[in-house]
Amino acid sequence: MSELDLIRDGFTGIGTPRSDVILGVGDDCALLEVPAGQQLAISIDTLAAGTHFLADCDPALLGHKSLAVGLSDLAAMGAEPAWATLALTLPDHDPRWVAAFSRGFAALAKAHGVSLVGGDTTRGPLSVTVQVHGLVPAGQAIRRSGAAPGDLVYVSGTLGDAGLALRQLLAGTPADSFARGRLERPTPRVELGLALRGIASAMIDLSDGLAADLGHILAASGAGAGAEIELAALPMRATVASAVQADGDWTLPLASGDDYELCFCVPPSRLAELSAAARGPGVAVTRVGRIIAGSGLRCLGPDGDPIALGSTGFDHFPDRQAG
Ligand code: ADP
Ligand code: MG
Repeated sequence: MSELDLIRDGFTGIGTPRSDVILGVGDDCALLEVPAGQQLAISIDTLAAGTHFLADCDPALLGHKSLAVGLSDLAAMGAEPAWATLALTLPDHDPRWVAAFSRGFAALAKAHGVSLVGGDTTRGPLSVTVQVHGLVPAGQAIRRSGAAPGDLVYVSGTLGDAGLALRQLLAGTPADSFARGRLERPTPRVELGLALRGIASAMIDLSDGLAADLGHILAASGAGAGAEIELAALPMRATVASAVQADGDWTLPLASGDDYELCFCVPPSRLAELSAAARGPGVAVTRVGRIIAGSGLRCLGPDGDPIALGSTGFDHFPDRQAG
């Protein structure tokens, strides 16, 4: 057997065995059974060494994160994770690296009932591509495009933790271990995403920061949808809040990447359903603002006055506000 054959063998039987996998790793294609009445939700992400992670990072954490970012996309559609495929480009044959990577990948796959059904392994600069496949009852996927004036805007969890960890790592200052865990080992909010079917009018997962990602909801929801965010309402842990306090720069909760929380809109008529649905998934949801007639994003300070974020460290904000 060649080295690559050995690597492929190592990717057999990863994750949860599922009865809808007619044929998994080992043939030219996987064969999968999509249940009647369900639609397939598909998303693919590449993590490249040097761009998305450092080549010498912990391979088990990389295995976790490469699947987590895909599961976060499924969560943001209200889709239930089912299958994944994995394309690995590896600079050399390192069985220990591959074993650690697949351990991290497999643990998260098992936790979400996902079966790894195929992939590709090639030699080259280190890069990981994961495609995830989820199931959603026909017509029930939660798109970015459904927000309407009057809807309330919510986020799950806390914002800015991963951004703080990245800032600490780059500065070489002692890392806040919770924040570092949020950067390196994000938790996709799959259960919450499923609970929001029939409740959220629009949803997105936060990978580029609330300002940009809520901007995607506004753009998709069309002319007439703007948003107001109350800065005082943004959910932050104490270390993030004090970093914001220190210099008045709201970049951490608004414009740093890798939060992997959900941002969603809820019509006022569905608030009672939201509080019932939000009890189960084990992550807090916080109202941070509302959709208003107009366009673009406005941020309100503690007294309810609009704040020009351009003066607090943002370059890219004025464009969006003008929008
Ligand atoms: P082919 O040449 O027909 O594309 P390969 O030799 O690339 O097939 O792969 C053989 C089998 O191993 C296929 O079922 C493929 O899906 C699986 N496979 C290869 N690499 C991976 C990987 N990194 N993770 C999961 N399955 C893989
Ligand atoms: Mg191949």
